[in-house]
Amino acid sequence: MGITLSERVQAVPPSGIRKFFELAEERDDVISLGVGEPDFATPWRARTAAVDSLERGQTSYTANRGMRELREAISDHVDAKYDLGYDAEDEILVTAGASEAVDLAFRAFVNPGDTVAVAEPAYVSYAPGVTFAGGEVLPVATYERDEFRLTRSALEDSGAGDAEVLVMCFPNNPTGATMREQHLRPIAEFAVENDLTVVSDEIYAALQYEHDHTSIATLPGMRERTVVVNGFSKAYAMTGLRLGYVMGPSEAVMGMNRIHQYGMLSAPTTAQHAALEALSSCDDAVEEMTAAYDRRRNFLLARFDELGIECFRAKGAFYAFPEVPTDQTGDAFAEDLLKAEGVAVVPGSVFGDGGEGHLRVSYATGLDDLREATDRLERFLD
Ligand code: PMP
Repeated sequence: MGITLSERVQAVPPSGIRKFFELAEERDDVISLGVGEPDFATPWRARTAAVDSLERGQTSYTANRGMRELREAISDHVDAKYDLGYDAEDEILVTAGASEAVDLAFRAFVNPGDTVAVAEPAYVSYAPGVTFAGGEVLPVATYERDEFRLTRSALEDSGAGDAEVLVMCFPNNPTGATMREQHLRPIAEFAVENDLTVVSDEIYAALQYEHDHTSIATLPGMRERTVVVNGFSKAYAMTGLRLGYVMGPSEAVMGMNRIHQYGMLSAPTTAQHAALEALSSCDDAVEEMTAAYDRRRNFLLARFDELGIECFRAKGAFYAFPEVPTDQTGDAFAEDLLKAEGVAVVPGSVFGDGGEGHLRVSYATGLDDLREATDRLERFLD
C-alpha cells in the first residue's frame, strides 16, 4: 500500500554527482571546481529592475508565453547576435529556466517508444527528461580526437538516422566543446536527410572565447526542424531567477506552450523584469564576466600543461575536460583527490558515453581558488 512511484520515475537513478556533494560536506576547506553555475552576482541593473518591479507591485502572472516586451527584446537580441529570426508573437516561449524548455521539448515532440539521440558527454538532465517523456535514449558519443564535437560519422555509427529527435548542446556542458559552421553543416545535412527534429541547447552561446557562436538553426533546412533553447542563467549569472526561453517554428513553440500553460502558467514575473533589463543594459557586465572566464580558462589550461595533464583546448562555457592523469577511473580519482586535498571535480562518466577517463573542471570559480586548487592537485600528483 502507500504510494507507488511510476515506472518512469523508478527508471531514473539519483544523480551520480550527489556522492561528491556529500563527501565535500565532510570537510570545511573544500575548493569546489564541481559547480555548474557562475560565481558572479547578477548584474546590478538587472537586480534593481527586479526590485523595482516588486515595489511597483508587479507580482501577477504574465501572459503564458511571457511578457510581450520581453519576447520582443529576445527576438531583437537573437537576431542581432546570432542571426536568428523569430517572431515574438508565436515563435518564442519564455520558460522557468532552460530546464523547463528542454523538458517541454521532450514532452511535446516524443511519443512513447520514440528514440532520442543525445550527443554525449551531455548535461545530466537530458536522459532523465527523455525517460520521463516515455522516450528511449540513444547515446551518440563525441571524442577528444574531434575536440568533443559531434560528427556525422558518430551519428551514422550509432544509428541516429532512425531516431526521431536529436539533442545537442554547443558550447557543451561538460566538455567546453564548441562547433563552428563548418562542423555544424554535416550535422544539419544528416538531420535533413533523416528527418530529425533537433533540440539545440545553446545556453552557453554567449560564453565563447575564440570564435562567435553559430546556431544550427541558421543552416539550410534547419529552421523548420529545430528548436533553440537559451536562457539567462549562465550569461547573466541569473541561475536562481529561473528564466529561459525556447524559439522555433510556431507549431512547435505553440505545442510546447500547450504543456507550459497548464503546467507552469507563466515563468516567474520578477525574473522576467530582470531579464528585460539584462537584455537592454547589461552587455558590459556580460563582457566583463566573459573576459574573466577567459583569463581563468587560460590559467587552468596552462597549469594542466605544466602538470602534464592532457586537456584539449575547450573554447566555450566554463568547463575544462582533462584526461584523468593517473591510471584510475575518473570516479576513483575524483574521490581520492577530494579526500586527500579537498578539491572537488566531477568524474566525466556521469555525463554519459565518451566521458569516462575524463574530469569536468569548472572555472566558474575565482583565480585565487583556481591557483590554490591546482597547487593542491600538483601536491596530490606528487
Ligand atoms: N542546459 C545546460 C547545458 C546546462 O548546463 C544547464 C544548467 N546547468 C541548463 C540547461 C539549465 O539551465 P537553467 O538554469 O536555465 O534551467
